[in-house]
This record gives sequence, structure tokens and C-alpha cells, in this order.
Amino acid sequence: MERHVDMKEISDGRKYRSSDMAKLGCNDCEGCSECCRNTGTSIVLDPWDIYMLTTHLECSFESLLQQQYLELNVIEGMILPNIKVEDHGAGCHFLKENGRCGIHAFRPGFCRLFPLGRLYEEQSFTYFLQTQECKKERRTKVKISKWLDIPDLARYERFVAEWHYFLKNFQKNYRNMSDEALRKWNLFLLQTFFAKPYEKEDFYQQFAERMETGRKEIRKYGRLV
Ligand code: SF4
Ligand code: SF4
Repeated sequence: MERHVDMKEISDGRKYRSSDMAKLGCNDCEGCSECCRNTGTSIVLDPWDIYMLTTHLECSFESLLQQQYLELNVIEGMILPNIKVEDHGAGCHFLKENGRCGIHAFRPGFCRLFPLGRLYEEQSFTYFLQTQECKKERRTKVKISKWLDIPDLARYERFVAEWHYFLKNFQKNYRNMSDEALRKWNLFLLQTFFAKPYEKEDFYQQFAERMETGRKEIRKYGRLV
């Protein structure tokens, strides 16, 4: 989800790469699970997240929705999935009673990122440190790649940028689309990138194939104004 904020107010003003160190270490969160509660609909999921969840839990996207782990919300004309977080502090449905994440090894990209954010510029992105978000004081320096703990990080980062700009391209035009075109586009988006099952093998290859169709469709639906 894109936010329009003054970077000076929310960060230390630095742009980080994954090879940089940043003050992230919070002693394994030590009893705090604030990030998994009271976050509303902000943990928006991308195709990599759905690939990780469905292949590790061996279930479908639809069943995650039915079981209330995920929900759908509209963001600037697009229907996208997010982690369902209950109100009044009950939190994410993956959160265990001991305050730990029940899917830590394959948790979504946003959960891995926090308290980092992404700053998108020129078809790519850098990381920034949100200085007022983590409740822990005296955080230690950790290399960002270690913090994220994502295999094949260079490919993942290319995917993140590609997905972001793909959606952004659509968002530039959606206000001109007819209701019918918008409905069809959203059905296509959900079906192609989220509901259609992913094989366990190479996610990036499967994503590239789906993107080929996606780019054709975005032009088609863009014309249905
Ligand atoms: S998926 Fe895990 S880390 Fe993310 S909000 Fe839920 S419990 Fe927290
Ligand atoms: S606020 Fe900080 S310590 Fe608490 S769960 Fe989030 S990252 Fe961990």
C-alpha cells in the first residue's frame, strides 16, 4: 500500500540497500507482538506471499479466505488480499497464544520488513527505517538481508519492484474505466495472480508467465473505458 508522507517525519532520512546495516534488532521481539495486532488492513499481500502461504500450508487461496486468515479489500480501484487482523487487539489469526507468529518461516513480506518500509523510485526501490514504529528501545544493528531472511533476495527484490509498478500502471488509469471494465479487471487480477494455484517449483518463473498475460490484459481493460 502506497503512502504519501514526509520521509523526514517518519524515518532517519537514510535510504538503505539490503547489504546495509540498520537499527532493527529487537531481541526477537521479546514478548511484544504489537506488529501483529491493531494493524487494520495494512498487511497487504502480493503473489509471492500467496505462493508461500498456499504451498507451505498446502491449501488454496480460497480456503485461506474462508478460514478468515485473509480478507479482500479495495485499494485505489483494485481488490487485493490482506492479512485479516481482528479489532481490539485480538490480532492476526496466525498469531499463537504465546504471542509468536504461527507461520514465521513463511510469513508475508510486509511482516518480514517491519519496521523497514520501501521507497519506490525509478522502477526500483530502497528501504527506509520507520523510526517511530517499533516499540522496543535500544535496537541493535542488523544487516537488512539477514533481517528479511528471504532466499534469493535479488530475484525477490526485482519481483517486488515489478509487481509494484505493474499495479501502479493500472492505478494511473482506473478512474477512467467503466464499472464493468473494472469488475472484469479485478476478477482477472484475483484469478491470475492469487487464486490460480502455484506449483512448489520456482515462483519467479511462474510469476513471469502470469505477468506476460497480465501485461496484455492491462492494455485490453485499459481500452474498455
Ligand atoms: S503473519 Fe505472523 S508476523 Fe504477520 S501479522 Fe500474522 S502473526 Fe504477525
Ligand atoms: S513493535 Fe518491535 S518488538 Fe514489537 S513486535 Fe513489532 S518489531 Fe517486534
